[in-house]
Amino acid sequence: MINLQCKLLIVTFDEIDILQEIKTRVEDYLGCVVEIKTSSYPKARMRFIQLNAADFLPLLISLRTDYDFVLGIVTADLYLPYLNFVLGLAHPQESVCIISLSRLRSSDEEQYIDRAVKEAIHELGHLLGLEHCNDRCVMRFSNMVAETDYKEDKYCNKCLNLLEK
Ligand SMILES: [Zn+2]
Ligand SMILES: [Zn+2]
Repeated sequence: MINLQCKLLIVTFDEIDILQEIKTRVEDYLGCVVEIKTSSYPKARMRFIQLNAADFLPLLISLRTDYDFVLGIVTADLYLPYLNFVLGLAHPQESVCIISLSRLRSSDEEQYIDRAVKEAIHELGHLLGLEHCNDRCVMRFSNMVAETDYKEDKYCNKCLNLLEK
């Protein structure tokens, strides 16, 4: 566990069945206080459409007031104007990030939770100043779910050392 002692707000837009599991694991690993808020973004309820990840950033920034970091979680698939899809997006300067569960789903619930936790800890790592890592570390870039499964759910020692600086 990393003793960050920070306050993290998780923002959801619709029902997320594994939300409590994600919250508990992120809380336990990062050692921060996590609160959950449901916000409205009508289109985010539509699981099968694709939304521009960047469109969520102003809303997440507006909710950051009492928190160190904000993590949005959507069930919709996300893209960026220059990428067909993204699993997540971080805006380190504003301390907000977002992940999509759309491509992480699995019939194995433990695997689904693991994937979501990895992507959440990855994007939060960017907010903590970490960049992509080539080790089998949670900061390894994943563009496909197989790559998410390959990496560990933790920061490697090299990344941890950077965090301590
Ligand atoms: Zn990344
Ligand atoms: Zn690393």
